Amino acid sequence: MLNTILIDGKVHAAALRRQVADAVSEVKKHHGITPGLAVVLVGEDPASQVYVRSKGKQTVEAGMLSFEHRLPATIAESEVLDLVGDLNDDPAVDGILVQFPVPPQISQHKVINSIDPAKDVDGLHPANAGRLWSGEAALVPCTPYGCIYLLHQELGKLDGAHAVVIGRSNLVGKPLAGLLLQENCTVTIAHSRTRDLAEVARRADILVAAVGRPEMVKGGWIRPGATVIDVGMNRIALPDGKTRLVGDVAFAEAQGIARAITPVPGGVGLMTVASLLRNTLVAGCRRRNLPVPSV
Ligand code: NAP
Repeated sequence: MLNTILIDGKVHAAALRRQVADAVSEVKKHHGITPGLAVVLVGEDPASQVYVRSKGKQTVEAGMLSFEHRLPATIAESEVLDLVGDLNDDPAVDGILVQFPVPPQISQHKVINSIDPAKDVDGLHPANAGRLWSGEAALVPCTPYGCIYLLHQELGKLDGAHAVVIGRSNLVGKPLAGLLLQENCTVTIAHSRTRDLAEVARRADILVAAVGRPEMVKGGWIRPGATVIDVGMNRIALPDGKTRLVGDVAFAEAQGIARAITPVPGGVGLMTVASLLRNTLVAGCRRRNLPVPSV
C-alpha cells in the first residue's frame, strides 16, 4: 500500500507569496513602480466580504497597492461598468478583479468583457482565454494557475503525463486543461455527459476534480500512484447541525491509492489568492513593457 503524500497548500501558497513579494521589491528597486490591484465588491455577501478583505491584506503584505471599491447591492449595471472603465484608465491600477457572484441585475458576462484584458487578473476575458489556447502570453485564471504550481512542486516536469480534468467551466476546468496541454500532458476533459466517468478517471496519471459535488470521485476511480488535485469546495451539513468543507474526492478512500493528493480545506483553495498576486505583478510588468519575473 502506498504512503499517500499530502500536498500542503499552506506551505506552497506561502512560498509563492514570498516569491511574488521578492519580485515586487526588485521591480520597485529597479523600475520605481509599485503594482496595484483594484478589487470591486458589489453587495454584502458575507463570504465575498471575507475573500475581499483577505485579498486586500495579502496584496499589501506582498508590497503592492490595494484599492477596494464597495458598491451597494442595488447599484445599476451601468454604474459598475463605468467604475470598471475608470479603473481601466487609471495608471495606478494594474489588475482589476470584480468579486463574483454579482447581484442579478448585473451581467457577469458584460462585466468580464468590460475589463481591459491587460488588467484582467482573473484571466476570464475572452481575449485571455483565446491567448491561452493559442499559446500566447495570457493572464490565466488564478485557481488553475495554482493547480499547475502545485503539480510542478510535486512532480517537476509534467511532460507526457495523462491528465484527466473532470469539469469544463471557464473558471477552472477549461483553462486548467489548456495549461496542462501547454505542459505537454495528454489531456482528457470530462464533464456531466461523459460516459463511464470512473473508467475515464482511472486512466489518469494526474486526476483533477473541479465539479462541485461532495466526494464524488471514489477511491476506485483513482489509478494507483496517480496525483490527485481536488479543486472542489463543498459545504455539507453534519447530523449535529454543524457544517464541514469537503472536496470532490472521497479523501479517506484515496489514501493508500493516490501517490499524492491535495486536501480540502488546506490545498488548492489557498493557492488562489497567491496566484492573484502573481498575476497582478505580471500584469504590472507587461503593461509597462518590463521583463516579467519568473514566478
Ligand atoms: P461549475 O461552473 O459548476 O462547473 C462544474 C463542472 O462540473 C461542469 O463542467 C459540469 O459539467 C461538471 N459536472 C457536474 N456534475 C458532474 C458529474 N456528475 N459528473 C461529471 N462532471 C460533472 O463549477 P466551477 O466553478 O468549475 O467549480 C468547481 C468546484 O471547484 C466547486 O466546488 C467550486 O466551489 C470549486 N472552486 C474552488 C476554487 C478554489 O479553490 N479557490 C475556485 C473555483 C472553484 P457540465 O459542463 O456538463 O455541466
